[in-house]
Amino acid sequence: MRKIDYHMHTYFSADSEADPKVHIHTAIAKGLDEICFTDHRDFHYPECPFELDADNYFKELKQLQRQFQQLIKIKIGLEIGLDVEYIDEINRFVNAHDYDYVIGSIHVIHQTEFYEPAAFFINKTKEEAHREFFLNTLECVQTFDCFNCLGHLDYICRYGPYVNKEVEHSLHQDIIDDIFKTLIHKGKGLEVNTSGYKTRGVCGFPNFEQIQRYYDLGGRIITIGSDSHTSDRVGEHVEDVIKEYQHIGFQDVSTFTKRVRD
Ligand SMILES: [Zn+2]
Ligand SMILES: [Zn+2]
Repeated sequence: MRKIDYHMHTYFSADSEADPKVHIHTAIAKGLDEICFTDHRDFHYPECPFELDADNYFKELKQLQRQFQQLIKIKIGLEIGLDVEYIDEINRFVNAHDYDYVIGSIHVIHQTEFYEPAAFFINKTKEEAHREFFLNTLECVQTFDCFNCLGHLDYICRYGPYVNKEVEHSLHQDIIDDIFKTLIHKGKGLEVNTSGYKTRGVCGFPNFEQIQRYYDLGGRIITIGSDSHTSDRVGEHVEDVIKEYQHIGFQDVSTFTKRVRD
């Protein structure tokens, strides 16, 4: 199975200062076969404008692709915040450039976010908040076609004013299954986001029970992403995820060029 990191942020994202060239050096040093930059664009972020200067992003990354072409495959991607209140803006933004790969992520729901001050959780039990999160995710994957893989499926467990923030998947498995079935029907995939190992210790976002569930329902399109905002995290836990993927039965990870599977 190929070693890839298909979720990385750089100084083109509002929340990272990382130099893409240092990401590339780390990826080569860790023996990765292929990487994809996926800087942020979100259309409503109450605390911080997640804009992306796509022209300069492409200009700089294309130059790095050429410079390192003998050493590693580099793709130019995007992490777009999926939000049903900005359907036209999102489609127009994604279609304006030739991204190789697009992660669709849920960062904001009805103008409320999960980070502090975390307005999304006000007056909700954990079960209510998590159900709304998964229902909104389902609505987004049904509504949008402009993405390749859904980002960090159950990362809502990182946030919220609850003593135990962990998602109780069994309470929401009906909705999560509908998310998987929609992804599979539309030819979209799922990532394991290894930033989740910091929260969960033994797995990322989502956990491997959910990846197994996706596989059992017929899902075969999977990627691995560190979600690194600093270069030291590039490629982190990729080998751990590959072991689990092989154990489940996947043949290989998927890679993409101009939003089509290689
Ligand atoms: Zn994200
Ligand atoms: Zn990210």
